[in-house]
Amino acid sequence: MASELQEAICMAKQERHKNLFLNYRNLNNFPVELLKDEGLQFLQRLYMKRNSLTTLPDNLAQKLPNLIELLQSLDLSDNALQFICPEIGRLRSLRHLRLANNQLKYLPPEIGALCDLETLDVSRNVLVRLPERLHQCLSLQCLTADRNNLTSFPRQLCQLHSLNELSMAANQLTSLPLDLGRSRELQFVFVDNNVHLKGLPSYLYNKVIGCSGCGLPGQVSDRVPQPLSLSLGDVSLPLPAEVKAIGSETERVGPLEELAMRALHKRSLLPPFLLPRSLLDLLQCPLGHCHRCSQPMFTIIYPKLFPLRETALAGVHRRTTVSFVAYCCSSQCVQTFDLQQ
Ligand SMILES: [Zn+2]
Repeated sequence: MASELQEAICMAKQERHKNLFLNYRNLNNFPVELLKDEGLQFLQRLYMKRNSLTTLPDNLAQKLPNLIELLQSLDLSDNALQFICPEIGRLRSLRHLRLANNQLKYLPPEIGALCDLETLDVSRNVLVRLPERLHQCLSLQCLTADRNNLTSFPRQLCQLHSLNELSMAANQLTSLPLDLGRSRELQFVFVDNNVHLKGLPSYLYNKVIGCSGCGLPGQVSDRVPQPLSLSLGDVSLPLPAEVKAIGSETERVGPLEELAMRALHKRSLLPPFLLPRSLLDLLQCPLGHCHRCSQPMFTIIYPKLFPLRETALAGVHRRTTVSFVAYCCSSQCVQTFDLQQ
C-alpha cells in the first residue's frame, strides 16, 4: 500500500497533475511524500476522503507554498480529524473545502481568511459553534453544517451576501438570527430536525425552507437556557441571546439605550468616547433590521408571530410547529407588518 501511495504521488509530481486522488488509502498521517522536495507544484485539487487522518501538519502552507497559490479544492471528508490548524487560512485560493464526517468540535477563526471560498461542508462533526469570522468569506455560496451540536448561528453570518444555500439540519438550534434570509441571494435554508427551534425569521417566508421535525410538541427547550422567550397562546418561543427586551404594540417610545444606539449608528462613525466592547460589536453588526422598514435594531424588538399552520404554507410542511416571526423596530411597524409583502 505504501509503495502504491509513493507511486501515485511520484507520478503526480512528474506528470504535473492538477488533481490528486488519495481517497480510501487507509492513511493515518498526512503523506510526507507530499511535503518533500518541491512538493506538487501544479496541484489544484487534493482529495483525501475516507482515510484515518487525525490531524494536518501545522506547516502545511509553509511546506507546500504552491498550495497557497493554486489549491482550489481540498476534500478531507470521512477522516478522524479533531482539529484543523489555523494555517488553513493561508490556502487563499481555496474554493471548496470539505470536512464532513470528522470529529471537529471547533473551526479555527482563520478560516475567515479564505476570501474565495465558495463551498464549506462541515456536516457530521461535533461542532458546538461556527466562527463569527466566517462572515469574511464573502464568496461563500453553500454552507452545510448538518448533524452537529450547534445551538445558534452567529448573526454576523447574515452578512454573507453570496450565500445561496444554508443547511443546518439535525443540530440543537433554539433560535435563528433576526436577519437570516434578509439577503436576496439566500434562497435555500434547511433546518429540519432541530427539535427546540420554534421560530423562523419572517424573511424566510418566501424562500425554499426545510423545517420538518422542528418545534415538536412536548420538546422542552430548557436544555439551553435562553434569556427571553416570546409567548402566544400555547406557543413559547426562545429568542436569540442578544435580545434584551421585547416591546409591546402599545408602547410608543423605545428605551433610552436603544435610541442612543440608533443615533450613534446613524452617525456611522465610531463614537469619540469609549464604549464597552459588546456595544461596539453591536454598533458594527446590529441585532437585526426591522422586517417592516429596515431600521437597524440593537437591544429591543417588537415581534409578531405567524404560526406556520395558519399560513398558506400549512399544507407544504408537515410534522412541524414552527412560527414565522416578524421582528420590528417599533409598535407602528409591528402593527402594519404583513407576512405576504
Ligand atoms: Zn420599522
